[in-house]
Parts: sequence; C-alpha cells; structure tokens
Amino acid sequence: MAFIRKSEKPRTGIIGTKSVDINETEKLTTTQLIDFAKKDGIETAPLDIHALVKSLGIRLVSIPMKDEISGSLSLSENGKEWIIKVNALHHPNRQRFTIAHELAHFARHRSLQAQFEDQNFFRKGDTNAMEAEANRFAGELLMPEVLFRDRVKLFNGSIEAIAQCFKTSTLAVRVRAKQLGMKGHGLE
Ligand SMILES: [Zn+2]
Repeated sequence: MAFIRKSEKPRTGIIGTKSVDINETEKLTTTQLIDFAKKDGIETAPLDIHALVKSLGIRLVSIPMKDEISGSLSLSENGKEWIIKVNALHHPNRQRFTIAHELAHFARHRSLQAQFEDQNFFRKGDTNAMEAEANRFAGELLMPEVLFRDRVKLFNGSIEAIAQCFKTSTLAVRVRAKQLGMKGHGLE
C-alpha cells in the first residue's frame, strides 16, 4: 500500500549516469536494468541492487523508519536527483525488495509523480495498478524468470534455499512462483 503525496511533476532533464542517459519519460524494463548492471560489471545473480541503484545515479539512503514504512522514492528539492530511502531496521533481504520496488517506481513511474512512499508490500494486497506493477517489477528484477525456474529445479523447490540464493524473503519467492504459474514443491 502506498501513500502518495500529490506534487508537481518532476522537471524535465536528463538523468545522466556513466552507462546510460535516461530521459525523463523513458520507461525502463527489468531486462534493460539487468543489462545495465552487466555492462557496469555489477553482480546479477544474486543482483547487487545497491550497486545498480548507484550506477543509475540514484542516491540510496538507509535510515531507521517506523516499522510499517518500507521505503520511499523522491526527487530532491532542486529536482536534480532521485533518492531512494529504505528502512534500515528491516531485514537486509526485505530491504533488497524495498529498494527494487522503489527502483521500479523510478523505472516506470518517475514522469508521473515526484514522491512515492510505501508501507508493507504484501500484507494489504496491491492497492492500485502502479503498486502492483512495482511489486511485479521488483520480483522480476531480483528473480528473473529463466534464472528462477533454473533455481527452483536445482533446489528441488525448497523455498528457503531459493530465497537464500536470491537473497529475498521466502514470501517474495512464493509470490514470484505464483506469478509464473508454478505449482508443486510447496510453491503455491
Ligand atoms: Zn510503491
């Protein structure tokens, strides 16, 4: 569930990074982001989400927040920099999913809003299409389909082993398996 402060649209301009120039409205896919990561020599299995965010020119801040807040994405006051904040008190694997979710808002929705704040992602269900898209995107980014199917086979469907391999929560693994229509091995 997200609480979204209505605010001005981000100003136009180029968000420059060392590997890509991203304009204000271009929507990015998980495949593109993983390709950027590979080009920059960033580990992709499991994805080094911290390094990817930084290579895209986004500032990443880990700070203690109220337990019900997972994180946020916002444009800096001068409109020049995007900032992802993540709740430092949450488990590191949960923080990875939060960062991926906020990165999804950057990749897909940054031309629509300048501020996104997120509570727990799974507990209250997806409240709107944007949040559903961000959750799916985060799952895809951290657990790309081909790799995910391969690991499910390799670990014989052990949710704990798969979660450990991708450094995600077991809940995120279950949700991803469901999205991919996978059943058996206790995956549903
Ligand atoms: Zn969100």
